[in-house]
Amino acid sequence: MIKHFTYLLYTGLLCIASFSSVHAQQQCATNAHRNANLAANPALVQKRADLETFTQNWIADQQNRGQESRVVETVSVVVHVLFKNGEENISDAQIESQIDVLNEDFRKLNSNASSTASGFRGIAADTEIEFCLATTDPAGNPTNGITRTQTTVDNIGDTENWYSTADGGKDSWDYTKYINIWVCDLGDEGLLGFATVPDSADPPESDGMVIGHQFFGTTGTAANSFPNELGRTVTHEMGHYFNLEHIWGPDEGGCNEDDFVSDTPNQFTETDGCLSFPAFDDCTTSGNGINYNNYMDYSYDECMTMFTEGQKMRMLAALNGPRSGLLSNSCAPVVGVNDRPGLIQVQAFPNPASNHLTIQLEEGVQLNGHRFWLSDAVGREVLELAPQLMMSIDVSGLDSGIYFLRSDAGINATRILISK
Ligand SMILES: [Zn+2]
Repeated sequence: MIKHFTYLLYTGLLCIASFSSVHAQQQCATNAHRNANLAANPALVQKRADLETFTQNWIADQQNRGQESRVVETVSVVVHVLFKNGEENISDAQIESQIDVLNEDFRKLNSNASSTASGFRGIAADTEIEFCLATTDPAGNPTNGITRTQTTVDNIGDTENWYSTADGGKDSWDYTKYINIWVCDLGDEGLLGFATVPDSADPPESDGMVIGHQFFGTTGTAANSFPNELGRTVTHEMGHYFNLEHIWGPDEGGCNEDDFVSDTPNQFTETDGCLSFPAFDDCTTSGNGINYNNYMDYSYDECMTMFTEGQKMRMLAALNGPRSGLLSNSCAPVVGVNDRPGLIQVQAFPNPASNHLTIQLEEGVQLNGHRFWLSDAVGREVLELAPQLMMSIDVSGLDSGIYFLRSDAGINATRILISK
């Protein structure tokens, strides 16, 4: 049962409805699903408690070690589009726009990062997690990481049918190796989406997240979904998937339960809209106030700008614990068919770059008759390059994000970060 919250402010005879209608009801049903699953399956309660112990120990251990061995990890996403009507059958481009947002937000390459409130900029994190649409399906066949299923079930995301092909939904791909995202109709109750926190899915095959198609990506059916039109519903739900709580904690109002993250201020309940720094509430009444820019709050998409360093460590604990199967199924884009040891080496600098990028190829590379280009994280060509051993490239027209140097000339993969 999904709880709905209504906010009504009465002052004498005046009724001040200062919250927009979409925010008058619960946006994220992650806690409702978790609570229902744990109530129906008490073994999960102990599993979750054990996971919390693991998480705190893992974080303490990492803090003792420093950052000696950490690398950027890329995890495979499969998007299951469930549609009854045509408009719910969203385009590949809309799906790719969501993967872009995830990569920008999780790598702190989001274009609004600079608008993070001054008191919190110092703890805004690059989580070092990247996302890619799956390139290989569970049977080992090439895939674009998208499945499409027509259904006769109304509002299928608001039923228990979404994860079952037999019931009009779509069976998950191996939930230990892929992040399964079902994109569908969630009804008109103001619900944007929900995710399964680790060790809470019941049945396990329902693990992943369910997102309303109007809140997935930034184009197509999402383009007019203000204030949730910038793809941050999925950034938020991905935080839950990697074991983040709402920034106000698992309670729905109060100061006794926090979010188990040391650097996020205690917060009473969700915020709404776009607050100004500093913002205080019943739980945090001084200092920098509450972290309303956090992806795990309910602020408008345009005002969400950050995860904290503490949240990053909690997510990395999940990635190295209950989500570690993802690490064996990375889908980092392959540079042509040549991403193998022994091929020609490439240097790119500075990396990250902002306006100019230099690419230095090893002597001996065959330039004649070969193409060189930059692609974005999902493989779309964004810039063709004139082949030379030393290429000076104007990248001022590219958005912040992750790019790859690609060629058919037998070069090794080169990941390039553009950061404005
Ligand atoms: Zn949530």
